[in-house]
Amino acid sequence: HAVDEEASARAAAARVDSGAPTIFDKIISKEIPSTVVYEDDKVLAFRDINPQAPVHVLIIPKQRDGLTELGKADHRHEEVLGRLLYAAKVVAEKEGISEGFRVVINNGASACQSVYHLHLHVLGGRLMKWPPG
Ligand code: IMP
Repeated sequence: HAVDEEASARAAAARVDSGAPTIFDKIISKEIPSTVVYEDDKVLAFRDINPQAPVHVLIIPKQRDGLTELGKADHRHEEVLGRLLYAAKVVAEKEGISEGFRVVINNGASACQSVYHLHLHVLGGRLMKWPPG
C-alpha cells in the first residue's frame, strides 16, 4: 500500500538527535542554495525541497544554539521561539495564504523529525485536513 510505504520510508529517514551539524547550517551559510521567502536578523524562511502543499515554507533560527528540537528549548530560547512564530504569520501573508494555513513542528523521530535544527513548517494553498497523519 503506497501510503504505508511512504510512512515507513519517512520513519526510516527519521533520525535521532545527535547534535551534529545539519544541512540547514549549509542553507544558512548559502553553501547550499535555497529559495528564501523571508529573512531577518534571527530567522530564515525558505521553500521546502519536498513540498507537501502548494505553499510549504520552513522557518529556522539562524543560530541553532542547542535548539535541535522544540523539546530541547530552554528559557533562553523564548525570544527566538516568538520570532519564529511571528515569522510564520509574516510568511503566510507574503505567500497569500493568511486565510487558511497550518504551522507544524515535528518533534523527535516518532513524529518524523528528520533534520535536527528546529524548524516550523508553514503549509497552505490547499484544504488542510484534520487530523494530520
Ligand atoms: P522534518 O521532517 O520535520 O524534520 O522536516 C525537514 C524538512 O526539511 C523536510 O520537509 C524536507 O523536505 C526538508 N529539507 C531537507 N533538506 C532540505 C533542503 O536542502 N532544502 C529545503 N528543504 C529541505
